[in-house]
Amino acid sequence: MKPHDGMYIDGDWRPAAGTETIDVVNPADEQVFATVPAGTAADVDAAVRAARAAFRGWAATPPAERAARIAALRDALAARRDEIAETVTAELGAPLPFSQAVHAGLPIAVAGSYAELAATHPFEERIGNSTVLHEPVGVVGAITPWNYPLHQIVAKVAPALAAGCTVVLKPAEDTPLVAQLFAETVHEAGLPAGVFNLVTGLGPVAGQALAAHEDVDLVSFTGSTAVGRQIAATAGAAVKRVALELGGKSANVILPGADLAKAVGVGVANVMSNTGQTCSAWTRMLVHRDRYEEAVALAATAAAKYVPGERIGPVVNAKQHERVRGYIAKGVEEGARLVAGGTDAPRERGYWVSPTVFADVTPQMTIAQEEIFGPVLSILAYEDEEDALRIANGTVYGLAGAVWAGDEAAAVAFARRMDTGQVDINGGRFNPLAPFGGYKQSGVGRELGPHGLTEYLQTKSLQF
Ligand code: NAD
Repeated sequence: MKPHDGMYIDGDWRPAAGTETIDVVNPADEQVFATVPAGTAADVDAAVRAARAAFRGWAATPPAERAARIAALRDALAARRDEIAETVTAELGAPLPFSQAVHAGLPIAVAGSYAELAATHPFEERIGNSTVLHEPVGVVGAITPWNYPLHQIVAKVAPALAAGCTVVLKPAEDTPLVAQLFAETVHEAGLPAGVFNLVTGLGPVAGQALAAHEDVDLVSFTGSTAVGRQIAATAGAAVKRVALELGGKSANVILPGADLAKAVGVGVANVMSNTGQTCSAWTRMLVHRDRYEEAVALAATAAAKYVPGERIGPVVNAKQHERVRGYIAKGVEEGARLVAGGTDAPRERGYWVSPTVFADVTPQMTIAQEEIFGPVLSILAYEDEEDALRIANGTVYGLAGAVWAGDEAAAVAFARRMDTGQVDINGGRFNPLAPFGGYKQSGVGRELGPHGLTEYLQTKSLQF
């Protein structure tokens, strides 16, 4: 794909209002390989106006017709699957097979799910003498991160379109090319002009302008807790709806009687996947004291198989490279025992981090509390189930988690007591229709499936 030097606004690529640009860097070798325009408040304003102008028409389009357009979008994405994978590999650094399967495959599946949900969602219901209408909220400002760059876009744009909303997207500055590719597929799918608009740019400039724009009705944000807090404050001042998908520090609880080798193997794979840059990653492994050393040895062996450049890519940028290795140094400094990896970068050029496993981690340590967002696993010991529950629930986050037990019912009973939005039981498969989102400081609202669609609706009651 050839990078665009403009913004996709009102159904066409328009010159940017300013002259600043953003370099796109390949994290595997630090080479700048493209530039995109850095949008300003003027670009955001033009995009919001286009989205507003298109809103009534799109909201009044019958759901079946909206569904047909989203199905066409799914098809356009599927037709460019290889190009999506190559683009994400170039700007994020993920190994190509992973980009094929997940960075391209997942958003295609999610777009498909909303093609179906748009057609079948009950947008009206009768309650007593009222007809309750579920109407689109209006113009959506979507601000997305770089870690699953296309998935995060589709997980916001597809349900918003299904609901009848129009959208202005500000994608992450590290991964703007796949966002431009997405805009091309929107165009190919024949969505009416203005229904989807793209402004590339920096968070504190274009992102802030979008979150603060008075004609945006809902801001949907995924990213860091610090920025999420700021966006919620900005949106709150204007009494604007807000959906936040923030960080996580999820617990992988291995109860006595579980298949330890499987639980540890899947747990390590979960953390190393996407170089640890997954908000729902199970970055804390909780193991009963009796089987602790056995689990640590299994985890160290499993981590050693993640050879950088083969099964695992670099982290996204220089800032994350420093930050992740800073956390590893902090773990050592606070007394955790390094059993795999460490602070040494496995290659000279590029943002490479060694897959790292820490044992003897205690619940108060920084590496047991803060989101590292890199390939770093902390293994903690617990004394009994109550202790495991206290540790699992003992962070400010609550996004995901896992429970393993010999007896499925025991695992489910434990999962019911966890303060978190999703729990996989004995390796339960990812479900793209299940609501995804956080308890506590992991966020507000839900994405994916029917719950993701209702985020973009507001209700009106007619009594007759
Ligand atoms: P970030 O929160 O700064 O960026 C996410 C998005 O918000 C980007 O599009 C960015 O341009 C935009 N943004 C930044 N400042 C903004 C502002 N003031 N107003 C409006 N939009 C703004 O995240 P980051 O710096 O790329 O990553 C830092 C940390 O965030 C990571 O180490 C990780 O812990 C966390 N993170 C979490 C997720 C997640 O999926 N929950 C994704 C990415 C990063």
